[in-house]
Amino acid sequence: MEEKPTLLIVDDAPSNIQLLAGLLKNSYQIKIATGGQRCLELAQADPAPDLILLDIQMPDMDGYEVCQRLKKSDSTRQIPVIFVTGKDQTEDEELGLTLGAVDYITKPYSPAIVEARIATHIKLKQQSDELRRLAMHDQLTGLYNRHFLIDVAAKRISQAHRHKQALCVLMIDIDHFKAVNDEHGHSVGDAVLREVAAIFKQQSRSEDVVARFGGEEFVILLDNCDLANAAQKAELLRASLVDSTIEGLRVSASFGLAQLRENGEAFNELLNRADDAVYNAKNNGRNRVELAD
Ligand code: GH3
Ligand code: MG
Ligand code: MG
Repeated sequence: MEEKPTLLIVDDAPSNIQLLAGLLKNSYQIKIATGGQRCLELAQADPAPDLILLDIQMPDMDGYEVCQRLKKSDSTRQIPVIFVTGKDQTEDEELGLTLGAVDYITKPYSPAIVEARIATHIKLKQQSDELRRLAMHDQLTGLYNRHFLIDVAAKRISQAHRHKQALCVLMIDIDHFKAVNDEHGHSVGDAVLREVAAIFKQQSRSEDVVARFGGEEFVILLDNCDLANAAQKAELLRASLVDSTIEGLRVSASFGLAQLRENGEAFNELLNRADDAVYNAKNNGRNRVELAD
C-alpha cells in the first residue's frame, strides 16, 4: 500500500487543528504543531512533511516569520506552505505569497475548496520530488549520477577542510568491459553494470556517496574515513566483485584511492589523483587497488 502524504498543521488554537485534521485525516497522515518553533522542528524531522498548513497569528512566532525561516533553509525550502488564516486583507495575502507560500486560504473556508487546493499542491510536490530524484540519479544503475556527486563532493570537501576531517575518493573502472559487450551483447553489459552497482551499494555505509561517474566507471566518496580504512574498504569491494558470478561471468575492476590533502585540495584535483591511481592499477595487472601519491 502506498503511504499517504504527510501534512503538518500549525495553529495555536486546538479547535482549528481539529477542524482541519478532521477534514483531511482520511487522505493524509497528519502531524500537528501548536507553535512556530515546533513547526520548524517538525519540518526538519524525518520524514519531512509534504506540505505545511500554517496559521499566521500565533504567540511564539508568527506564521510570516515561520514561512521566511522555512524558505531560508536548504533542508526545508522545498516544502510547500499554505497559509490558513483569519487575516483576510489583501495586504496580508500579498505578504504571505511574497514570502514564498504557494497558496493563501482565509477563514471561514469551504472544506471542499481546501481539500482541492491541498490535493493540487501535494500533486505538484510529488512531481517535483520525482524530478529532483531523477536529476540526482543514474537511470541504468539507480546510483547517484556524476552531477550529484560533484555537487555533494564540493560540500563534503569544504566541511572536511574546515573540520580537519579525513576524506577519501575511490575511483573504480571495470576491467576489459568492452569485451563483455563484444562477446555477450550490450544488454548483458547493462545487466553487469547494474549488478556491479548493487554490490558496491550493498557493501557501502549509508553515508558513503556511491556514484556512477561514466560508462563503466564508478566513484565512491568516503566521508570521515582515512586512507588505511579506505584501503581496507576498497580491498573488500575488489574481493566481493571477483567472488561474485555476475550474469554468469567473472568480473573484476581496477581501483584507485586518494585521500584529500590538507592544503585545501579541490575535488577535481583529488579525483585526478584517484584516476592516476586507477591508471597504475591497470598497468600493474588490473583487479587491484592502487593508492595515489
Ligand atoms: P580496461 O580494462 O582498460 O578498462 O578496458 P575496458 O574495455 O573496460 O575499457 P574501454 O574504455 O576500452 O571500454 C569501456 C566500454 O564500456 C566501452 C563502452 O562501450 C562500454 N560502455 C560504456 N557505457 C556503457 C553502458 O551504459 N552500457 C554498456 N553495455 N556498455 C557501456
Ligand atoms: Mg573506462
Ligand atoms: Mg574499463
